Amino acid sequence: MDRFVVPASAETWVEGARQTDFPIQNIAFGTGTTKSGVEAIFAAIGDQAVNCQELLESGLLDPERYPALFGFYDLAEGALPELRRDLFELLRSDNPTLRDDRSLLRRALVAQSDLQMSVPIPPPAYVDFYSGIHHAENVGRLFRPQGEPLLPNYRHIPIGYHGRAGTIVPSGTPIIRPKGQFRPPDSAGPEFGPTQAMDFELEMGFYVSEGQPMGRRITCAAAGDHILGLVIVNDWSARDIQQWEGQPLGPFLSKSFATTVSPWIVLPDALEPFRIEGMEQDPPVLPYLRRQGEQHYDIRLEVRIKTKKMKTSEVLATSNMKHLYWSMPQQLAHMTVNGTPAEFGDLYATGTISGPEPGQAGSMLELAFKGSQPITLSTGETRAWLEDGDEVTLRAWGEADGFRIGFGDCSGVIQPER
Ligand code: MN
Repeated sequence: MDRFVVPASAETWVEGARQTDFPIQNIAFGTGTTKSGVEAIFAAIGDQAVNCQELLESGLLDPERYPALFGFYDLAEGALPELRRDLFELLRSDNPTLRDDRSLLRRALVAQSDLQMSVPIPPPAYVDFYSGIHHAENVGRLFRPQGEPLLPNYRHIPIGYHGRAGTIVPSGTPIIRPKGQFRPPDSAGPEFGPTQAMDFELEMGFYVSEGQPMGRRITCAAAGDHILGLVIVNDWSARDIQQWEGQPLGPFLSKSFATTVSPWIVLPDALEPFRIEGMEQDPPVLPYLRRQGEQHYDIRLEVRIKTKKMKTSEVLATSNMKHLYWSMPQQLAHMTVNGTPAEFGDLYATGTISGPEPGQAGSMLELAFKGSQPITLSTGETRAWLEDGDEVTLRAWGEADGFRIGFGDCSGVIQPER
């Protein structure tokens, strides 16, 4: 696919954009609602956002190519990268068309802080993989201390499960502490109540652009062209519920209560500068899973926490997308190899992305060693698991020469059980 990489030297007339997650080299898209209740596709630029439907109605975008831009389902196949190119032209500093049209700017340009962002695309299907190899090893050591950290299938198959699409929520949605069954240590039978082991999972995810009908598959070589864009994902997890219910079929109620996504879809075109080959796969994978070229990303990840006692958030952990063993194209190729269909808007999350070092864990489970070694925060508070009132914020960005490409915050505050 022909990727459109905005030159590093390009500037926008939107002030201060280069200092944010959204320089003109990014141009990410989300679904936002203005204070007057208008919902449309917005493009993030600096700390502002442009109402794409408004540009369309004002004749600055071609109605033949974009019949409507109220939401992502209005888009024709392949239209989002084109829309990004069109926005680039309108936002570049030497183009006066939008820059000098005061009345249109008043209608089309909104401060991001004045927008209510939704889940960019409510996904028809949600899948969660388990492709962070350091996470898988850490979990293996915690739950099977006697055995090999990785199960025998790990390096051969991108492990995953079909998740609950209906509980994908936008950043900022309160996360109500889930109730369920769990078996406390040294107890013969289960108890029912609010989870005592509330956790986050640091993940990234991709939206599917063009899908494929039942009976067909998407090859690993073609899969990159089926990726619409990336978001940050927090796969909130109740570890005690998960441990009790998870054998033999895997997570059920321990994760289905809520999953948070970041508000802006960052397109693969904007992530081109951060493409890398990724970690070596050993032993070699089966032919249908062979990677073609650079399918991984060097994208920095950060987990922040803000307890009720804190005035500002602090870093809990850092990681990087390069710690994924399986690439997103490999995940999509594997998921569809049996002929199951994929469709526009499906969301595929990577699994928790931990790094190899201490402090690079993408979950409380790993940071506090399954509750056995609580961590101490700057306030002197300790945490084995998340407590009510804790706000967790996930961030992700690629660092280029003179700018960064970011995703915006993926946040949620833990609320008491109801
Ligand atoms: Mn997960």
